Amino acid sequence: MYFVEVILPLSLDKTFTYRVSETEYHYIKKGMRIAVPFGKNKMYAALAIDLHQNAPVLYEAKEIHEILDVAPLVNEIQIAHWKWIASYYMCAIGDVYRMALPSAFLLESETILSQKPQIFVDVTQLSDDEFLLYEALQHQSSLKVKDVMGILNKKNVFPIIQKMISKDLLVLNEEIQYEYKPKLVKYVRLHEDYVAESALIALLDTLKGAKQKEVLLTYFQWQAQEKKPLPVKELVDKANSTTAVIKALVEKGIFEEYSLQEDRVNFDKNKEEQNLQLSEAQQTALDGITSSLEEKEVCLLQGVTSSGKTEIYTRLIEQYIKEEKQVLYLLPEIALTTQLVSRLTKHFGNQVAVFHSKYSNNERVEVWNQVNQHSEKAKIVIGARSSLFLPFSNLGLIIIDEEHEQTFKQQDPAPRYHARDAAIVLAQSHKAKVLLGSATPSVETYYNAQSGKYGYVNLKERFGKVQMPEIELVDIKDSYFRKRMTGHFSNVLVDAITEALSLGEQIILFQNRRGFSPVMECLTCGHVPQCPNCDVSLTYHKFKNQLRCHYCGHSIAKPTICHSCTSSHLTTKGFGTEQIELELAELFPTKNIKRMDQDTTRGKYSFENLIDRFKNREIDILVGTQMLAKGLDFDNVSLVGIMNADNMLYQPDFRAFERSYQMMTQVSGRAGRSEKRGKVIIQTYNPNHNVIQQVTHNDYEGMYKEQLYERQIYKYPPYFRLVKLTLKHRDFDKLKEGSMWLYQVLQQSLAMPVLGPEEPAINRIRNEYIRTIMVKIPQNVSIGNTKKTIQKALNSFDVIPQYKAIRIALNVDFY
Ligand code: ADP
Ligand code: ZN
Ligand code: ZN
Repeated sequence: MYFVEVILPLSLDKTFTYRVSETEYHYIKKGMRIAVPFGKNKMYAALAIDLHQNAPVLYEAKEIHEILDVAPLVNEIQIAHWKWIASYYMCAIGDVYRMALPSAFLLESETILSQKPQIFVDVTQLSDDEFLLYEALQHQSSLKVKDVMGILNKKNVFPIIQKMISKDLLVLNEEIQYEYKPKLVKYVRLHEDYVAESALIALLDTLKGAKQKEVLLTYFQWQAQEKKPLPVKELVDKANSTTAVIKALVEKGIFEEYSLQEDRVNFDKNKEEQNLQLSEAQQTALDGITSSLEEKEVCLLQGVTSSGKTEIYTRLIEQYIKEEKQVLYLLPEIALTTQLVSRLTKHFGNQVAVFHSKYSNNERVEVWNQVNQHSEKAKIVIGARSSLFLPFSNLGLIIIDEEHEQTFKQQDPAPRYHARDAAIVLAQSHKAKVLLGSATPSVETYYNAQSGKYGYVNLKERFGKVQMPEIELVDIKDSYFRKRMTGHFSNVLVDAITEALSLGEQIILFQNRRGFSPVMECLTCGHVPQCPNCDVSLTYHKFKNQLRCHYCGHSIAKPTICHSCTSSHLTTKGFGTEQIELELAELFPTKNIKRMDQDTTRGKYSFENLIDRFKNREIDILVGTQMLAKGLDFDNVSLVGIMNADNMLYQPDFRAFERSYQMMTQVSGRAGRSEKRGKVIIQTYNPNHNVIQQVTHNDYEGMYKEQLYERQIYKYPPYFRLVKLTLKHRDFDKLKEGSMWLYQVLQQSLAMPVLGPEEPAINRIRNEYIRTIMVKIPQNVSIGNTKKTIQKALNSFDVIPQYKAIRIALNVDFY
């Protein structure tokens, strides 16, 4: 008898054994997908990981349904790595498999399919089965895979569906299709009749309107100085005029209107196209990295903001692809901008593939196949954390840029892996090297560099010897007291913005919305509307005139009377980006102000769109959350304002100070990236706070030492590893009892700190109560054994009937 061992794309810890024929046994290779029945009438795309002749002991092996691939989709290095992830991060191997594969590869009987909107279909080209499905979808908007089985009256439908997906006839329902319409910018130029100077003077004489003259003169001045196209919008601003005046000039045939696609007017284009010469400091850093990677597996490049790290990465990548190696370039999701991609594609042409979550299933499947087939098109993969799971077979180098970013750690759902750490493990199986880059490394990484585990290279100067920005602190307590505030703006900040604007420079304002969102409050009774499902106040969204829960999405129309006392004296409290944007509009009514946060960047390209417009100087002031801090490079930003440093500092999290330092330094780094020295204004209630002082003096070392000391005293990483257990249940008392039981078992069986069970600050989300337990594993204790003990406790917990319904999530190396 012949068997295949498979992983199911379900949250199951075990692998399963299925029966195959002898022919199938010889045909199947590890890493192929196999459709198998599981549970009641359900079908899944499982992954073959072994072939053997041992019948399972506990159950009778079912037969497989069909083989889905002709060649392996996943290689053995991946399977080994996924097993490591499951074991290290204490999750089911099925969770890893399910997350690793693009969902188009994971069709199951419950998967929902629908027709791709607005696509012309030539029905004569469809096979009979394809036509049946096509027709069915004319009558209903979506189908489940199991419905398809009924319609076609057969069981093996996965190949047909897959083919239709690849032909763009079907889409998986989770996908939302965005379309990028490149934005056109309007410009004017002088009609050729007037380009000669004499014609021009004559023209000015004939013009009667002073307003039109003013516009023309402004245009000449600009052309004489800048010699580049002038957008209509800027001309209006500069001449202090209106679009009507310009329209009149166009109608007279003096100006001609034309449009350009935004990305064609990239000011840096020429600079980027030539092959860049490394500065001396960059060259030294590159040499340092090269020699350090000869001895060590991992090297940390600490380079201040705007030191030109990307160019160094580029050189290093060149060396590896010359040796026919694959390169993976990992970035936090949000830093994956067209800006960076275009920089790299200019250098490497179409050897670069991009992989991230805003890509559609088809695009992801394409990249997967390219990597799997060693395609020229995917020698270099740039991607967010999930690109770690692509089928690399010959990795030479992994670059992890902005390695300190917490988004490299997946929070929910399992696997809760850290992409940086998992990448280092993956590199070992490929005998590949890892370069970590950051201006503000995480304490853990810097610690590893200090202890000699990682190599270390420091790049202290900005490219072109641009000075680091000057940082000025404004004590807002004092400013409020002296009435030197307008709304949330100190006079110092308003003056600095006014000055920068008068010089035609741009401004970035940073407002960390987390933990300090605007709420609605009743002035009569103090009632603040709460989410009915979660233990949080609802957040006020002015634009939609709604109150919304940021945890579950629950929303209500903005109330006109208090739901508690019916008073109509309601007010909004606190401030987020939206409020800052409004106050700015009042302070600078003629300026173009835009906001960048989760609410304004939902679409596939809306983030890029905002960045492009800002880069093209169409936007004067950009207000945003931490999104603004991620590796963006603008050459005309002279001023950065941090609206309130304190709400970052006082998050209840042992990393709050480290993060505040990183955030403020990264945001500050957006100022003055060209010749002129930039300025940063930090508004704070605590100008003497150590972290604020460290940011002001660019004192990473000071921040690190202080944090390291605290980590040791209070038993945190890098001295202790954290395993956090989160328990959830709808019944408050049952949860309380159950978490106490688990805590006591852990406490008794582990010779290390076990804390809890704690009620988190937000103790109910989506109607489930929450308790947490934290285990702190000292450096010198075996992690493996500790996890085994934890697992044992969890197993006993699971068999207690009254606790069975309590769900537990494990987070190893909690971030
Ligand atoms: P970092 O990632 O370290 O913050 P960047 O890689 O964004 O810095 O570089 C900052 C700026 O300097 C960019 O505008 C980049 O184009 C420019 N730059 C970096 N290295 C060079 C070089 N060797 N020649 C010309 N320009 C460079
Ligand atoms: Zn009230
Ligand atoms: Zn809620």
